Amino acid sequence: MVNLNHKLLVLAGPTAVGKGTVAKHIIEHNPQVVLSVSATTRAPRPGEVDGVSYYFLTDDEFDELIATNQMLEFAVVHGKHRYGTPKQPVEAALAEGKAVLLEIDIQGARQVKQRMPQATTVFLAPPSWDELVRRLEGRATENPEEMARRLETARVELAAQGEFDHVIVNDEVAKCAAAVVRLIMS
Ligand code: 5GP
Repeated sequence: MVNLNHKLLVLAGPTAVGKGTVAKHIIEHNPQVVLSVSATTRAPRPGEVDGVSYYFLTDDEFDELIATNQMLEFAVVHGKHRYGTPKQPVEAALAEGKAVLLEIDIQGARQVKQRMPQATTVFLAPPSWDELVRRLEGRATENPEEMARRLETARVELAAQGEFDHVIVNDEVAKCAAAVVRLIMS
């Protein structure tokens, strides 16, 4: 069997670093790259669409996916809700020869690397800590308590960047997206 794991790219990094924006840019400009839709137990934000932004699941539904071995990885993120990557769509896309991009947290990235060592892991880093705080505040979708929790997670996550195959600083979306695509295609 052909090993297509090298086409699996994990994009991780702290909250508000711009993972979503970079991932969106990559998908819009590279039809051969598929973005995995994650499952989560958190509630949809305004404008988020079930099955597109995430699969929004109940705790029971999430438990069921784990129990039936349908999750490639999963984690509690920001100490609160569970997020995970459904395995089947990833495997199907890889089998079709497509490249798959996972935009997930660091715990998930570790699990994927363990299960699929050929996967390429990329840590998206902010230009600076102050810039990260500024981006999180600018997003204004979180209440102060949630924001404090996310910043705490970000501190821990920034310390883990050495575990990744590559670190890319997100100072400019298009440049950063191009760098990630070069890794997928190499
Ligand atoms: P948000 O609630 O802002 O959409 O996402 C919060 C965090 O969950 C982000 O850091 C994001 O990378 C992470 N996340 C999203 N999907 C997954 C997933 O499938 N698995 C893991 N481990 N983390 C995820």
